[in-house]
Amino acid sequence: MPVKNRFAELLPEITAWRRDLHENPEILFETHRTSAMVADKLKEFGCDEIVTGIGRTGVVGVIKGKTDSSGKVIGLRADMDALPIHEQTGLEYKSKTDGAMHACGHDGHTAMLLGAAKYLAETRNFDGTVVVIFQPAEEGGGGGREMCEDGMMDRWNIQEVYGMHNWPGHEVGSFAIRPGAFFAATDQFDITIEGLGGHAAKPHQTVDSVVVAAHVVTALQTIASRNADPVDQVVVSVTSIESSSKAFNVIAQRVHLKGTVRTMSKEMRDQAETRLKAICEGTAATFGATAEVTYYRGYPCMVNHEEQTEFAADVAKSVSGDCEDAPLVMGGEDFAFMLEERPGAYILVGNGDSADVHNPHYNFNDDAIPAGCSWWAEIVEKRMPAA
Ligand SMILES: [Zn+2]
Ligand SMILES: [Zn+2]
Repeated sequence: MPVKNRFAELLPEITAWRRDLHENPEILFETHRTSAMVADKLKEFGCDEIVTGIGRTGVVGVIKGKTDSSGKVIGLRADMDALPIHEQTGLEYKSKTDGAMHACGHDGHTAMLLGAAKYLAETRNFDGTVVVIFQPAEEGGGGGREMCEDGMMDRWNIQEVYGMHNWPGHEVGSFAIRPGAFFAATDQFDITIEGLGGHAAKPHQTVDSVVVAAHVVTALQTIASRNADPVDQVVVSVTSIESSSKAFNVIAQRVHLKGTVRTMSKEMRDQAETRLKAICEGTAATFGATAEVTYYRGYPCMVNHEEQTEFAADVAKSVSGDCEDAPLVMGGEDFAFMLEERPGAYILVGNGDSADVHNPHYNFNDDAIPAGCSWWAEIVEKRMPAA
């Protein structure tokens, strides 16, 4: 079955919502206008229950099917937040907020899930309950984690969860998915190297923290090249080096390093953290300096569950005719927290020939809306078929 005809009819309306969201981007948990707009729409559609303030600014809507003999409850999740990027698309509906932009397509995700909610609330052609989940702060704030910590899964007895993200550079409306580890765990680190500052012409009277930092940066490359099993994925990137000296003739007392670690398994994540600390402390000690490492665990690795992934791929095939095998993504995705609490799957939908996400020229492709909405609707109608 191709895309649902109803979504072709609803396309202008859903596109208008998407462009309105695009013009009014909000960052992290500050999705006040967006959340209010989502709640208003869900009310207008006649959802059975709408609750705001889950995970601070998250919104949950409940849609009951015609019958509920299955007792099943499926969660469908979209993210609502924008990025701190200055938009350069020149679109007529470009961001009205300087320094904020929907550069990851969450405007499209929110609009597509609203479209699906409208359809599901008017047809209710399923046996069970749908919970639509609109989360803030996917881009670094852990809005998904906060919604889970607010007890969302138990409160609505959600049994399975599904998520979707647009995918630039792939045919619009096509789908791709993979079972198991899919998006990386995204951790951050701060390293402070403390040496002994002094005159740049008298290095023998100092412990040069810049030289120590250079050795640390080089030694950290061995986590990926010498510690990790070559078939495992790990990225260790030092992204910032800041010396306490701003002068050409002063050896720095202190150097501050920052960076990120990306891994695809719990074992690799633990190993990377342990090695990172040991390398920093050991290298600093070699030169008579000290290193203090703060390691922040961010989003966990996002793992798609086998059975739900297979089902999600079948639904994608019925909507689009095909579903590709997606590659591993070293970026993070906080839907990972929801998939840690419940089985489910996360799928990619092609965004056509667009700039990549997080680029100031990116734009969500409205032509993907019918496929995206159809996938949501069919997840519900096929997983909980009408009695
Ligand atoms: Zn993003
Ligand atoms: Zn995103």
